[in-house]
Amino acid sequence: MRPALLKEIVKGIFMKPVTIQYPREQTPIEPDFRGRHYADLRKCIGCSLCAIECPSNAITMVKVPEGYDVPKTNARRMFPLVDYFKCVFCYRCVTVCPTSAYLLSNEYRLASSVPIDSSSLSLSTVPKMGGV
Ligand code: SF4
Ligand code: SF4
Repeated sequence: MRPALLKEIVKGIFMKPVTIQYPREQTPIEPDFRGRHYADLRKCIGCSLCAIECPSNAITMVKVPEGYDVPKTNARRMFPLVDYFKCVFCYRCVTVCPTSAYLLSNEYRLASSVPIDSSSLSLSTVPKMGGV
């Protein structure tokens, strides 16, 4: 065996692995990574612009359920529901929103066997009337 090759083999034996054991080990995430996002209903005015601009039709405008205290600026009581299975995380919706209503995160672990959307996250941004 050539000495150079032998040296590489010995080096490889003592080297720290370059791969990680995901999900036991987590990959480092850049702070500006585009992850799960959702509308803050304290700021959303229900204008639909984000839904119109979404290139993958991942946003549906839906009614805020009764009992949630949304600001009067959202007269139609509509808010954007993001379907994370359709979303390509381009953040176009975030950019076009006139009230900067989107809350951002670098959460990327969205694998699920059932459809997942932003409903519960958005509704959690406003209080329920009567403190229920
Ligand atoms: S990030 Fe892009 S694809 Fe996802 S909901 Fe927003 S506009 Fe649509
Ligand atoms: S663009 Fe902004 S204000 Fe308009 S519906 Fe979407 S999140 Fe709400």
